Amino acid sequence: MKSGPSMTPDVIKPSLTIRLCGPRGFCAGVDRAIQIVVLALKAYGAPVYVRHEIVHNRYVVEGLEAKGAVFVEELDEIPAEHRAQPVVFSAHGVPKSVPADATARNLFYLDATCPLVSKVHKQAMRHQRLGRHVILIGHAGHPEVIGTMGQLPEGSVSLVETVEDASVWEPPVDPDNLGFVTQTTLSVDDTAGVIARLQERFPALQAPAADSICYATTNRQEAVKQAAPGCDLFIVVGAPNSSNSKRLVEVALKAGAKRSLLVQRASELDWDEIGTIGTLGLSAGASAPEVIVDEIIAAFKERFDATVDLAITTEENEHFLVNRELRSLELTVADMAFVNGDQAPPPRV
Ligand code: SF4
Repeated sequence: MKSGPSMTPDVIKPSLTIRLCGPRGFCAGVDRAIQIVVLALKAYGAPVYVRHEIVHNRYVVEGLEAKGAVFVEELDEIPAEHRAQPVVFSAHGVPKSVPADATARNLFYLDATCPLVSKVHKQAMRHQRLGRHVILIGHAGHPEVIGTMGQLPEGSVSLVETVEDASVWEPPVDPDNLGFVTQTTLSVDDTAGVIARLQERFPALQAPAADSICYATTNRQEAVKQAAPGCDLFIVVGAPNSSNSKRLVEVALKAGAKRSLLVQRASELDWDEIGTIGTLGLSAGASAPEVIVDEIIAAFKERFDATVDLAITTEENEHFLVNRELRSLELTVADMAFVNGDQAPPPRV
């Protein structure tokens, strides 16, 4: 942790209000994906292989590694002698070629794709089945985008990232025969701009049956929007490769926070740069564990006379079932303590 305001106990600490956003942190899809790896370790023993980061958070990955998970980039990294051990696919989803490859290699896989990502896959496939060229609004190179594009035959899907892209993109087919879906973790407001531009150019453009941006992304952005005005600083707990966390940083700035930072651990906080502040906004991306939020609050309480005000915009009650093979296993508070602290895991309905 870097230096800054004094930690000496007899110095009067400056007062600070922390606006703690709710909802924040783990969404139902991330929670489910982590549970799948934890339960697979219980059921089959170590090692359990995981293709890509299960969710975009280093702390989560290291916590699972400590329990016996082994992260690989591709299936050919799994040693032949471990082929009977399960391999888990990440919450972001995978192209169709990945489960096909796993089957061809005789691997036992557990798919941790978030059900809301799978829903976007189905919506994209529906457009394609109806003969439409699919526009995917999202960020190039993101695993979810790779997974969604990989549901469709080559040439039947185009990626559009920005309003500028939407203004110049030329359809390879009849412009009256287009449908769109989006990545689940985009900025709600920016995406509305991209869709509006596409609809302006292609009035027959077909929307998906339901919004692709998921409830967790929408709720976390709305909570930040409400809490950010008047904040001297807004901190989002999350990883630099987490799309939804980066969007929260942008939303905080747009909504009126003077400064906004993405932070992975309290040890990254630069207290000289933070300086003396009166109001701190605090949220966490959908892949950021609550134990890190607690760690950040504790670090501020060491240096400030801090009061935590909850800024809750809505309650969330979404929970997703784990894979059938794992449902009968017990998941304890201790199993998930590395990310949730002493909070009970959500009900497994
Ligand atoms: S952010 Fe949304 S789509 Fe992504 S894992 Fe969470 S609930 Fe699922």
